[in-house]
Amino acid sequence: MSVYILDTGAIISRNINLLSGNIWVPESVIGEIRKGKLKRNMDQISEYISIISPSENYRKLVSETAEETGDIKVLSETDIDVLSAALELSGVIVSDDYAIQNVAGKMGIGYIGVEKETIKNQIEWQFRCTGCRKIYPKFVPVCEICGHSVKRFPK
Ligand SMILES: [Zn+2]
Repeated sequence: MSVYILDTGAIISRNINLLSGNIWVPESVIGEIRKGKLKRNMDQISEYISIISPSENYRKLVSETAEETGDIKVLSETDIDVLSAALELSGVIVSDDYAIQNVAGKMGIGYIGVEKETIKNQIEWQFRCTGCRKIYPKFVPVCEICGHSVKRFPK
């Protein structure tokens, strides 16, 4: 039986009714949904899902990879949990989030989109100062040369 891990976007979508398998949701995602107006979506699916709190060592592996790909600063804590849960359960991620998909691809984790098409190629990010245009291989918030902010862009 297939194992799926859903992110918040996947839970909001109705298409997940089409999934048949073992469906898991990180505890932090459940928390995010309970805070919002999406409680009804949660009530509808709560009988089909299992809840996981990913282990710290998987979260560490995911964070390290996201730092390599340059996605770390756009991934939320719940995004990291989705990736970590997929790694821990050897499951497939259901998400339209390109940063999640990018890190998943890099780690050999399978993913499917919910409503959008999934990304075709891995994106490697670079960082460039908005002032002097110095290139940084890793994210730094402020340029060490001129003090302007640093933005990411695909290599
Ligand atoms: Zn600069």
